[in-house]
Amino acid sequence: MTIYQAYPIISLAATVGYVLILLLSLIRKGQNAEQNRWLLLILAISIGWEFSLFFAASAGYAQLPTAVLLLSTAALTVLTSHYLEWRIPRLGLFLGGVAILASWVVTLLFPYRYILLPNNTPLPLSNSQLLTYATWFTLALLLLRKTWRDYKATGFPWHANRLLYWFVVLATIYLGELLQFFDLFALVIAGQIVRLLGIFGLRYGVTTFRIFDVRTRGLRSIAFLIVNTLSALPLIMIIIFILQFGNELTNNEFVTAVLITVVVTLGFFFYEPYRSVIERITYRYLRGEDLNTNQIVRNYSQAISRTLDVQQLSVLVVGTLSELLETNRGALLLLNRKTDDTEYELEPIPAMGMIPRELRPFNSNSLFIQTLMHENQPLLQYDLDFNPNYNQQLAEERAWLKEMAMEVYVPVGAAAEMEGLIAIGPKSSGVPYQESELELMQILADQTVVALQNARLYSELNGQNEHIRHLNTDLTEQNERLEIMDKVKSDFITIASHELRTPLTQVKGYSDILAAMNEENALTREQTKEIVGHINRATLQLETLITAMLDASQLDVDGMQLTFVKTRMDTIMRLSMEPMVQATRERRIAVSFDGVAELPPIYADFKRLVQAFTNLLGNAVKYTPDNGRIHIQAILLPSTTNDEFLEITINDTGIGIDPKYHDLIFEKFFRIGDPQLHSTGNTKFKGAGPGLGLPIAKGVIEAHGGRIWVESEGEDEQRLPGSKFHIILPINPPGAESKTAVETNGRPSYLIG
Ligand code: ADP
Repeated sequence: MTIYQAYPIISLAATVGYVLILLLSLIRKGQNAEQNRWLLLILAISIGWEFSLFFAASAGYAQLPTAVLLLSTAALTVLTSHYLEWRIPRLGLFLGGVAILASWVVTLLFPYRYILLPNNTPLPLSNSQLLTYATWFTLALLLLRKTWRDYKATGFPWHANRLLYWFVVLATIYLGELLQFFDLFALVIAGQIVRLLGIFGLRYGVTTFRIFDVRTRGLRSIAFLIVNTLSALPLIMIIIFILQFGNELTNNEFVTAVLITVVVTLGFFFYEPYRSVIERITYRYLRGEDLNTNQIVRNYSQAISRTLDVQQLSVLVVGTLSELLETNRGALLLLNRKTDDTEYELEPIPAMGMIPRELRPFNSNSLFIQTLMHENQPLLQYDLDFNPNYNQQLAEERAWLKEMAMEVYVPVGAAAEMEGLIAIGPKSSGVPYQESELELMQILADQTVVALQNARLYSELNGQNEHIRHLNTDLTEQNERLEIMDKVKSDFITIASHELRTPLTQVKGYSDILAAMNEENALTREQTKEIVGHINRATLQLETLITAMLDASQLDVDGMQLTFVKTRMDTIMRLSMEPMVQATRERRIAVSFDGVAELPPIYADFKRLVQAFTNLLGNAVKYTPDNGRIHIQAILLPSTTNDEFLEITINDTGIGIDPKYHDLIFEKFFRIGDPQLHSTGNTKFKGAGPGLGLPIAKGVIEAHGGRIWVESEGEDEQRLPGSKFHIILPINPPGAESKTAVETNGRPSYLIG
């Protein structure tokens, strides 16, 4: 039989094969509708191709089959792009289409044109054959190349497995097709069988969601072959030897027969141990050693029973698994339930590798969480990526999981009892996890449930303890504060009586003197003027004190009533500094300003701001020893919104303030030190005051919508660490509706010193 006689029979037989696969594919479909559709198309084209082979042989359309084959290659490309989730670039589609069309056109119009070689002999292939083969070859090569490259590039072993499987399938189909191009009987038959096998593999890939582990199965098959061949080899060799030289050695058929019997019997004795040695060696190199599950589980449970720390537990679980499975990435993900069970949250406790730490909320009906909870078996990242059911999973959840770059998630605990997940990265060898390994992971995860529950309870308890400790410290602080406030209250009586009594005594003393001298008619004009002067100063002091007390009490009653005007900070600072100019000169305190003049105009209650800054600058002078420095700096704070703020800092080189008083000094009547001391002047070093300056300043600044606070290392009269008061003020205070357009520059009459 010639090849041309054989063709129809071969193609009919192959057609039966393709029809069977087609029927099978119609009965059991894959999960992905798009892939199913393209698979059916490829099968239909394959049947068409077989028919074209059938007719080509008898009717002489020699080019027809190859032209049909191009269609199959095109469909295979589209199926591959669906299967491997590729996006074929438009240019690629266009070029491929043009190449196929061109080869068809040439085949139709000029089927028998040949290129002439320089010596005028035609090329053995016609132009149309050349173009068709070249198009087929290029398309096949490109597809194989991209699949192989992706296989090499992917970090996930199960993804790699899918790519490797597809590569093998594509290569088988193309090999089958290639063999057809040679007009040799044996090759054609072999090609048909190989292609049929390839197409069968294609169907398996499309209909089976998780494909078997190609590499491992390949290695196992090789191992099986090696073990059996090597096991049989010695026996075969001995038999050959005896057959060859037996008669020569013994010259007796009986002895030869005995010898064979002995050798065969001995062979049976040694066969078992010999085979097991070969098996052990081969499997060790090709398959890796089997895991001793019992031993591992026992050691693991012993180790975790001693752990009460979530982080330690994470390291232990991942450590054990990484040692066994040779991975270098893993974490424990705690499952936190929101109180009403409507949402979950995964909290990574990293153990190995760089793992994002941010918490991720998961929807209550997230398929990922639900599957793990209810199926209680490991879930592969591969499933998340290729199982169409997970397409409904929220994009952010999928992205977060992808970022985790794990190969498998193993639930710790089932259903409502699920405490978390063990997430394990891919093996460093790139081999996918085997069923037995996934089982082992689940066994270890099941062992972990109680330990994890305990560790979580323990850390919760620790957290609560910590909280109680904090509350205790807060309580102690509040207590101390209350004690101080209590003292401030009683100090107030002392301070107020001191403060009021001093000027009152002066007034009384001088008026007594005035009266007595007047009685004796001994008063000169000069004396009267001097005594009245003393009385005036004392009354002024009294008035200032009473005004301050009234201001302070106003803070409590109805806050501060402010009248906003457009004004400039440098005017305010100049006027606030005025009462201290004399004293700073006498005590040689250097005062410097920086940036105040550059500030834009602000809306503020001019009188109140001058009062606040007078108090602050007065304190800076009072608590800075002679020859000290006071530096006032102002900046406009950078702002992204419309609300602009300025910051003023008053930095002195004075005695400083103990951090424990940083809040208290803004309380009314609080002052550090002995309450028995009474006002000894507004500018003298450490001249005590009634403890109202800072509360009033704070009241004014806060009424403007600003803030004030102090920074200081502590109080030390030797080292002089200094204090730094920060004042933040809005340029346009929230309550400045009653702004007046009048700019205030001069010194107002109502200003008190
Ligand atoms: P006083 O009328 O006593 O100055 P303040 O309310 O102005 O009252 O200040 C309260 C306390 O804060 C003062 O008694 C003083 O101990 C402390 N204090 C205020 N400003 C400074 C400063 N610049 N350096 C050191 N201590 C200061």
